[in-house]
Amino acid sequence: MDIEKWVRANIRRLKPYSCARSEFRGEATAYLDANENPMNLPYSRYPDPWQEALKAKIARLKGVRPSQIVVGAGSDEVIDLSIRIFCEPQRDNIVAIDPTYGMYQVCADIHDVEYRRALLNEDFTLDAERLLAATDERTKMIFLCSPNNPTGNLLNRGKMIRIVEGFNGIVVIDEAYVDFSSEASWLTALNRYPNLIVLHTFSKAWGLAAVRCGMAFASEEIIGYFNKVKYPYNINLLTQNFVGEQIENESRKNEWVARLLARRIRLAAQLETVPSIEAVYPSDANFLLVKTRDANGIYRRLVEAGIIVRNRNSVSLCRDCLRITVGTPDENEALVLALLDMDGVSPSSVMQRP
Ligand SMILES: *Cc1c(COP(=O)(O)O)cnc(C)c1O
Repeated sequence: MDIEKWVRANIRRLKPYSCARSEFRGEATAYLDANENPMNLPYSRYPDPWQEALKAKIARLKGVRPSQIVVGAGSDEVIDLSIRIFCEPQRDNIVAIDPTYGMYQVCADIHDVEYRRALLNEDFTLDAERLLAATDERTKMIFLCSPNNPTGNLLNRGKMIRIVEGFNGIVVIDEAYVDFSSEASWLTALNRYPNLIVLHTFSKAWGLAAVRCGMAFASEEIIGYFNKVKYPYNINLLTQNFVGEQIENESRKNEWVARLLARRIRLAAQLETVPSIEAVYPSDANFLLVKTRDANGIYRRLVEAGIIVRNRNSVSLCRDCLRITVGTPDENEALVLALLDMDGVSPSSVMQRP
């Protein structure tokens, strides 16, 4: 497979900015190459542009090689970078499932790259043939998200394989919610599929959304292009060190995930009893999508009660749907009580603690 032919010609030709920290690597007695203030160490020095210490830890955590990783200020940065690498503005296009995470389209729009939506089935399952039919010779990338946001479900692996193997271009699989799902990550397929990019983030299960740290995993060749186009110092020293420390605490993350999954099951059961909720969709993530009688009205009244959920009413296949994050027990209870109150239902039967 020839990755290079999918890369934009200007990116192929690009001579990347060579920063002081990348021209000299190693130990020296005097660092007089980057116009830094020598006081206030370690913050006065530019950080490692390749984030080697952090990548070594991520590599161990995820079972990949450091050369298969690019780190970004959230997955949002790596989504943006991937489009810059592969899509020629005003000429190439991207195909993505619909509904899905909104940033793919925003990034495509920013780069003036056509964004094509391939509708999921009514039950949010993937129609691989419909998606492939939306591609043409100018489709450079396909975006899949599994578990998908906002629908919460895993996409069928066999159908995804059909796409990864059947598409002559880059396939991005966004696994932001992989820690919550029962299925294995696509990371183990990286060596088999050189056209695959897998996205992970520290923003969800790891509880680090404020820190802004996400990752793409791909072949060494693709990662080489990410390294060419990213800003040299895209991950600051504080983030590199702090995320490195947090990775040491994987068991705490796993405990959080277990607790959130238990709460999700409980919350789903309670939401099932709310009259104005018509369906609670199955979830492989840390949120629930629910179909209501009137999403706009319920959303407004929840806001008045100080409870903010995500109104997905205007999203494809999600008419009258709300997306609800699994929160603390108190937050979840406040939500259910507010919903029952709107429906004039006494909460006593529903809210008994286990
Ligand atoms: C939350 C989320 C992300 C995470 O984005 P960050 O920039 O890493 O915070 C990525 N993809 C999907 C589908 C998400 O829902």
